[in-house]
Amino acid sequence: MLSILTYSSFMVQRRESLKPNTFKSNDGECWRYRGEGKTGLVVTNNCGLALKLRKGTQENDYLYLYTRNFLYVEVCIAPIFGPFLCYGQVTKLPPSLASNVISTIQNRRSSLKDSNIDLKCPYALMMPDACSLPGHSNIITIEIKPKAYLRTTGNQQTPLKCCRFCSNIEKRYAAKLISAKTEYCPRDFFSPRASKVARAISALFDEPLSYMTIHKDNKRIFDEDNKNIEEILGPQSYKTRNELINVIVKILLSKRTSRNRNVLQVIEEAQQINTLSIPELCNIYTQFNSKGLDIDIEIGKWLAGESTLNKEFLKLLDLIVKFSISIIAQDISIMISISPVCDENLSQIVANGKVYSYKVNIVDVDMKSAKKLPRYLVQEKELSVCQSDYNNHPLGGESATTHLGNNCTSNEACLSECTDDNDSNGHLLNNHVHESTGKSGRQTRT
Ligand SMILES: [Zn+2]
Repeated sequence: MLSILTYSSFMVQRRESLKPNTFKSNDGECWRYRGEGKTGLVVTNNCGLALKLRKGTQENDYLYLYTRNFLYVEVCIAPIFGPFLCYGQVTKLPPSLASNVISTIQNRRSSLKDSNIDLKCPYALMMPDACSLPGHSNIITIEIKPKAYLRTTGNQQTPLKCCRFCSNIEKRYAAKLISAKTEYCPRDFFSPRASKVARAISALFDEPLSYMTIHKDNKRIFDEDNKNIEEILGPQSYKTRNELINVIVKILLSKRTSRNRNVLQVIEEAQQINTLSIPELCNIYTQFNSKGLDIDIEIGKWLAGESTLNKEFLKLLDLIVKFSISIIAQDISIMISISPVCDENLSQIVANGKVYSYKVNIVDVDMKSAKKLPRYLVQEKELSVCQSDYNNHPLGGESATTHLGNNCTSNEACLSECTDDNDSNGHLLNNHVHESTGKSGRQTRT
């Protein structure tokens, strides 16, 4: 990522060219429900486009919010995620398009149908449909929400050796917030070793909870309520589940960026971009507050090239932005769309003695508010309590560290002892729900 101190002149130029286009409907266009979260609802059409409609009922300066978000993604996120990033353009909707779309798909909505689309909002985010491979059928789209194994967002000062994700699964299961445990562990998933990545994905096939869904030709066919993959397997595509996992692993480990990195490496790098602890970040927050400065607005001003902050405060703002990037990277989804047919216009991979075409995208990268930082300080204190539990445990301290090694999933002692607050795990800025699962995640997400 380029330094915040060097970006302003670029931003001034960029802002000039940023004007929302107007969405053009096509004849015979039909909209399908893809999923929704707390902040938006995603629909797709038969032309390979996805629209993310805004939720909520508050009237806002919509164009400002969309523009700030767009600039944030372009300046802070795109340089890191590079060719994997799937993001949209701000688009002005024709009058009544949103209400027409909603009336079409209303009966497909499930758990979050009471949170309504903001029909006053004249804008939406338009992006390529990550499930679509033009000209192909029999497309499988695997969506994985990998989360993170970091103990705290200030991962340089990680107090515990065990994995936050696994300990949280254990805790939530014990509290009956989830009906099953998954053996999935982000440490396996982000491993450079194919066998470990395969183990992580295999665990998601056994019990995906809300961390994996699969669509076939835009129809959801696999999730925590339906773990049957017979519909995916076949002699022309994947004879067995292991063949499918083999293809997924090879795609995930394929290097693609200009820096010759794979999608897992770029996500992990973003997750670890923050080097401060929550108390240090809160201290910065307090410094802004004491000057009467709103951090989110200051980030917006900086993105627009209009910051009036002095050099010292710009450096502090840079640290806050890095924290927000790490939080986003802990809550993104990876979308892998695969066709069992060779297509030279797409990326290709050889696996199981066949050529597969695919695309892989990172989605869900919206800017998150820095205003919730004080809440994390409370959670950080709870982590300290957890630390003392850990030290007092028979396996605590050095011996536990040695014992745990890299495989926290196999250590029940660690998992049951190192519990922490729901929201402090993985997604500190908890204002977002999975786009495609259409579930609130209150029951199953960590
Ligand atoms: Zn783990």
